[in-house]
Amino acid sequence: MQQSPQKLGLTAKIFIGMVAGILTGVFLQWLADDSGDISFSVFGMGVSTYAILVDGIFHVLGQIFINSLKMLVVPLVFISLVCGIANLSDPSKLGRLGGKSIALYVGTTAIAITLAMTAALIIQPGTGVPLPTDAEYAAKEAPTLANVIIDIFPSNPFAAFAEGKMLQVIAFAVLFGLAMAMCGESGKRISSLFNDMNEVVMKLVTILMNLAPYGVFALLAKLFAYIEAETISRLVWYFGCVLGVLFIHALVTYPILLKLLSGLNPLMLFRKMQDAAAFAFSTASSSATLPVTLETATNKLGVKKSVASFTVPLGSTINMDGTAIMQGVATVFIAQVYGVDLSATDLMMVVLTATLASIGTAGVPGVGLLMLAMVLAQVNLPVEGIALIIGVDRLLDMTRTAVNVTGDCMVACIVGKSEGEFDEEVFNDIDAGEAQEELDLHDFKKMSD
Ligand code: ASP
Repeated sequence: MQQSPQKLGLTAKIFIGMVAGILTGVFLQWLADDSGDISFSVFGMGVSTYAILVDGIFHVLGQIFINSLKMLVVPLVFISLVCGIANLSDPSKLGRLGGKSIALYVGTTAIAITLAMTAALIIQPGTGVPLPTDAEYAAKEAPTLANVIIDIFPSNPFAAFAEGKMLQVIAFAVLFGLAMAMCGESGKRISSLFNDMNEVVMKLVTILMNLAPYGVFALLAKLFAYIEAETISRLVWYFGCVLGVLFIHALVTYPILLKLLSGLNPLMLFRKMQDAAAFAFSTASSSATLPVTLETATNKLGVKKSVASFTVPLGSTINMDGTAIMQGVATVFIAQVYGVDLSATDLMMVVLTATLASIGTAGVPGVGLLMLAMVLAQVNLPVEGIALIIGVDRLLDMTRTAVNVTGDCMVACIVGKSEGEFDEEVFNDIDAGEAQEELDLHDFKKMSD
């Protein structure tokens, strides 16, 4: 499909939605009075703009958008992974594929958290910050390695679907796809059904992506109508330190790894990540962004479905480099505020627990803080310290989620390339995948023809 030059592409529209949402939110907050609302009276009745617009229209639109994205995650992962596995040219590749993906995910997370702690030890963001007074935060127990592994295998796949337990859905899809590939004729029949279903679900993704500019606008307008700039200014060193390391990891570590391990051009990766990063930033959930991340990996970056359908969903669950960065800085920050010296063993413990805790935890907003509580408890730091940073976490959450999904795609490219399941022409084609994102409403006609 040829695009007319003056027509705005989807990425540009999403970007406009983001900027307009942020500006609207900031503007509303600027207009708000001391009670944090813009009230006026109509026929003697008080009307609250925040109740109608922010908590009403923006909230409803934003939540519908997020729910619709989440609605696609389980069917999309299951169907595309079954297709991917069944179409794998050599099923014995699967073990290697899994091994490489997990090693890269765990390796990059360990690099991320080490970078973060080193930066925090040098910058010392916690020095001079007063202790919290009204803190209450309880840590959950960190899962044991045995439990993490056992939990990958569902006793009831339907329960796993219903609860959205991604690792369990992945395990069932892999086994189902393998069995299908072993079944000869009947396997082929089901396989063609799954391939068709995959097309339909991907079309649903396209429809949703075309609604994204409005969804993104509503989400960000609501968020920025509430975000308090003063909270950030009080914690400016912590905030800056996390943001700085997030940018270094995304703009230095990833390009180096991509170039070294696959020879691919990192600038192309960044260019093509724009939509997925915008979704991740607006939703703060790598799990909700998964449909777009998968579409980016296959249609824009050229990773073959057999690799992308396995590596990307796995990454959205176990790969959280951005989250690990926040945890690394936050742990050192909280230790500094409370005047606790962390030993080398403590620091190693933080790397281990944060990496382990991120496995099996779904990518949803704020989950990083929950995991941070486990990490702090592990090294005997006061979990209440989280109260210090909770106020600025949402903005950091949005940024680190964008880093998380970029990491997922970067690893998918490296694994795909090394397994020969990669289309370099697609990767190097700037416009690849753009046409598939455009929704052609004439498609409706085909069914009735
Ligand atoms: N929101 C992040 C994600 O979905 C997780 C976190 O850091 O809280 O990837």
